[in-house]
Amino acid sequence: MPESDPLNPDWYQTGLSHIWLPYSQMKTAPKPLLARSTAGSRITLQDGRSLVDGVAAWWTACHGYNHPHIRSCAEDQLAHMPHVMFGGMVHEPALRLSSRLAAMLPGDLDHVFYTDSGSVAVEVAMKMAIQYRLNRGESERTKLLAFRGGYHGDTLATMAICDPEEGMHHLFAGVMPTQYVIDLPQDTATIAAFETFLDAHAHEITAIVVEPLVQGAGGMLFHRPEVLRRLRDAADRRGVLLILDEIFTGFGRTGTMFACEQAGIVPDIITLSKALTGGTLALAATVARRHVYEAFLSDNPEHALMHGPTFMANPLACACANASLDLFEQEPRLEQVAAIESALHEQLEPCRALPGVKDVRVMGAIGVVEMDRIADPAALRTRFIAENVWIRPFRNIVYLTPAFTIQPEELQTLTRAIYRVIKG
Ligand SMILES: *Cc1c(COP(=O)(O)O)cnc(C)c1O
Repeated sequence: MPESDPLNPDWYQTGLSHIWLPYSQMKTAPKPLLARSTAGSRITLQDGRSLVDGVAAWWTACHGYNHPHIRSCAEDQLAHMPHVMFGGMVHEPALRLSSRLAAMLPGDLDHVFYTDSGSVAVEVAMKMAIQYRLNRGESERTKLLAFRGGYHGDTLATMAICDPEEGMHHLFAGVMPTQYVIDLPQDTATIAAFETFLDAHAHEITAIVVEPLVQGAGGMLFHRPEVLRRLRDAADRRGVLLILDEIFTGFGRTGTMFACEQAGIVPDIITLSKALTGGTLALAATVARRHVYEAFLSDNPEHALMHGPTFMANPLACACANASLDLFEQEPRLEQVAAIESALHEQLEPCRALPGVKDVRVMGAIGVVEMDRIADPAALRTRFIAENVWIRPFRNIVYLTPAFTIQPEELQTLTRAIYRVIKG
């Protein structure tokens, strides 16, 4: 038998030929790195290299990896009940989490429905908004209105409310349900177009869907709180619901616990996931205001919300989410985000002078360097790895969404790497 090579174990070679990676052309994709362990803001690879993580596992690991408090709560829950079905039965971790979310969220966002991924949480929000109309006898009002630059998930229904180009609508034309996707009302022209569109279509629209303040995976685009106040006002004037997808922005990422707080508005439905469990387990929540919930209360069994994932409200995931909320209460997370925000401003600003840089923008613990174009994102990724950092450019964007607990010198390692790699 050949000696087994610890840096290239046979389960790696064999396993690689059996996995299918996301958004990857498997014929040409470079071999993925082999992660062995994580701690704080670092990922250790099988070969012993340690990378500073600028992405925090798709911005989920807000307390850093392997936080001892989340780990101990997870171990405790694991010992007595990792999972039980949520049909006809409930449990303490889900009940505690629901009360805590209802208390934290603004207004009367009080009714929590659990799922196991962000896309499904958005699907549930869409179904809630549609069935809300059906239950009220408004069956002509079942369309959704969303915005260019948005990202709300990868399932067929959520793809239809993503940016048409980023969401590859043309590939699935005729198969995917069609929804309305227009420009966010941000300046005189787009505001006028938005108001005209709503006047013409409000009678068939149940809800507006938007990622508040930051459109994340669609391009890390920022907008002002006034835009959200305009959407809230326009929706109210026409009896349209407002769904805020805070899967990216929720739990401190933009500087406040929820982005909607900065606009002082309350959506009718909000979706949460990503940082909900501090980046440990898959969990998502769709939270509705009282008036939405009440449209489902009736003597007609068909007026019940028609959804129910097998692993909904998984106790282990709920225990991790409760532990994550403990940390927001016990540790100075929002102060850490504010410190990251000023460090990112200071340290990324010099990139603006580099050739090919179109914009540098920062909000909370999000730092973005937008290029005119990135000719070869894969080559750029390789250069970041050579700098011992984990940064994943996409389209024309180089971005950081670090853990809120990142050490100042680790953040500097990330921003210096960005400067050096872009400088070329
Ligand atoms: C990531 C994301 C989703 C989808 O979540 P998944 O867990 O990947 O299905 C939806 N909306 C926003 C804003 C996101 O950032």
